[in-house]
Amino acid sequence: MGLGNVKTQITTETKWDTLDCPVCDGSQFTKLFEKQGEPFARCDHCGLVMINPRPSYDNVIETYDEDYSTFYIKKADKKIQRAKRWVRSVQKYGVKSGRWLDVGCSAGFIVKAVEELGFEAYGVDVEKYGVEFAKSNLGLKNVVHGMLEEQKYPDGYFDVISAYDVIEHVPDLNSFIAELKRILSPNGVIDIRTPDAGHWAVPRKMENWNAIIPSEHLYYFDKRTLPLIFARHDLKLVKHMFNFKPTLKMYFGFSGK
Ligand SMILES: [Zn+2]
Repeated sequence: MGLGNVKTQITTETKWDTLDCPVCDGSQFTKLFEKQGEPFARCDHCGLVMINPRPSYDNVIETYDEDYSTFYIKKADKKIQRAKRWVRSVQKYGVKSGRWLDVGCSAGFIVKAVEELGFEAYGVDVEKYGVEFAKSNLGLKNVVHGMLEEQKYPDGYFDVISAYDVIEHVPDLNSFIAELKRILSPNGVIDIRTPDAGHWAVPRKMENWNAIIPSEHLYYFDKRTLPLIFARHDLKLVKHMFNFKPTLKMYFGFSGK
């Protein structure tokens, strides 16, 4: 995601949503800690950590306090080089070309790398500044501003769908994953990166982990719970990549390995 900061002012007026667990539908949670007035809790049944209850989405205000273009231009080369490594890893896995959609494409660095490595490249992001940069500075055509579900991509359209640092932000996770499944081609792969709450490098006092971000990071998966939520949609884990950093890197598809 981009540089927008999501701000929630917790007051006595704040409306809260109490949720069932998106992984297992469980409704019993154990509170772990509070950060900036928001309660972080663990599902008693499957172990997913999430903000629950969480401030209703209409309390959330997005703010922008950076000069985007300058920031993006400074970062562009490095980010595109890094993105190419990630794209090559998917190619090595077996999907060499076709259509690739980057969900949460921000300024389009992944989309640019994907295009340069021979895919027909698409991107979507809810934040318009990044998308404008992608179009005007990187010359990308198929990048759009809005929600994934609004784009009405055809069934089975994409051979690769990447969502890097995205799913932990999505308010309605199951409808999001259902949409990923709908637009994925039969032999396609979904490439996910998200903070890894089960990683050995996560501080014992979890509230000190820099991935714990009230209002922004709504869920904290581990190597068990992430495959479980994809399994609800008949999507199987096809590859779990080792990582020294506390980020889960997993591929999902219709048939497991
Ligand atoms: Zn659960």
